[in-house]
This record gives sequence, C-alpha cells and structure tokens, in this order.
Amino acid sequence: MNFPEKTSFINIHTHKTFYSESEFALLNIFAQEYKTYKINCGYAYSVGLHPWHVKKDLIKPALDEIEHAAKESFVAAIGETGLDRAIEIELRLQEEAFIAQLEIAEKLRKPVLLHAVRSYSDMIAIRKKNRFTTPWIFHGYTGNLIIAKQLIDLNCYLSFGKFLLNSKSNVPDLFIELPKEHIFLEIDDSNLTIQEVYRQASFLKACDIREIQATILNNFNRCFFNGKNR
Ligand SMILES: [Zn+2]
Repeated sequence: MNFPEKTSFINIHTHKTFYSESEFALLNIFAQEYKTYKINCGYAYSVGLHPWHVKKDLIKPALDEIEHAAKESFVAAIGETGLDRAIEIELRLQEEAFIAQLEIAEKLRKPVLLHAVRSYSDMIAIRKKNRFTTPWIFHGYTGNLIIAKQLIDLNCYLSFGKFLLNSKSNVPDLFIELPKEHIFLEIDDSNLTIQEVYRQASFLKACDIREIQATILNNFNRCFFNGKNR
C-alpha cells in the first residue's frame, strides 16, 4: 500500500472508491465481497464482517476470508466489525463473529475498525476481559465524553465524520473536549469530502488545518506502525 504523507488528508473509513487529491483513504471491503473485489495494491483497505451481515452459516467462511486477506500488506485493518443493538440479528451471533475477528487482529497485530450501536460498554467489557491490546478505532463515534475517556485509556481511537458538521448533535461539543492524539476523521458513506471534514475539525479545535493533518498522521503512524519504521 501507499503510505500517507504530511500533506495527506487521511480518511480512516470510507465506502467510496472515488478519492480526491491528496486523500489517503482506508477503503472498507465487506468480507463476503472480498473474493470478487478488484483490489488496487496501491490503496489501503479494511476487511471485515459487518454486524448487519452476520448469519450463522456465513461466519466461518467470512472469518477464513478475513484471516487470509489480513495477511496482505494492502489490508491495513480488520473491520468494520462490531455490535449493533439496534438490529434484529441475535447479539450472541454478532458477538461470536466480532470476537473471532478481534482475535485475528490480535494475532496479526492489525488495528480494528469498529461499528458500535448502543454497545460501547459491551465492547469495553470484551476488551478488558480478553486483554486485547491492538488499537481499536471506533468509527462514527457518537458516545459521550465519559465513555470516550474510558476508550482512550484502553488505547482506542475515535473517528468522526458527518456528525461533526451537525449542530443538532452532541458530537461537535464532544470533539472540542477530546485530545487530538486519539482522533481520526472519515467520510464513511456520506457525500462529504474528507477536506470538508478536516476544515470543520480545524474550526472546532480552533487550529490550523495543517496542525490537524500533522496530528492525524502521527496518530496513524502510532496506531498502524506502533511508532516503528514501516
Ligand atoms: Zn462504514
């Protein structure tokens, strides 16, 4: 994969294959689509079984696919995976698929992109109980400040996208309070450009956009390379 540089706008989670200039994106691939996916080895990807797609007979083949994919250097992270308490899919099944993916990530030392809906405390419990240490990135974080601090203490990162620009949500106020050293920015499936998200982040943090870029690049290197030379 290519690596982000000082001038890059790192987009830590997206489903869009169109990149703008100076964007470094982590494009998400659903595990069940990996086999037929047209990989571009210059790009970076995350591969995982999304909780919305969990089915009993899909778990095993999806896990095999993820483990196989995660050995590739262009697959930078596992995910998105997680727990969603707002859907009908049995939580026990979601958990089975989720924890197995976390174990693959630990084994291969790759970060994880998480989808969490009303499940932050479940995840904190899972992380502590299993002593997972590989960095987790909660994409589209919408929890409160107390949970955010607990996650940061557990070596997790929080990623923000469209809600940063939504004045009706609590996300802008929360974002102002968070240490920059634990944030990422993303577009997910929104129609925003990553530059628009960075512009809003720099407005909320009252700092230059280049400072946000430099901090997120540091965060990326710490999270994905553990500060080591790549
Ligand atoms: Zn997504």
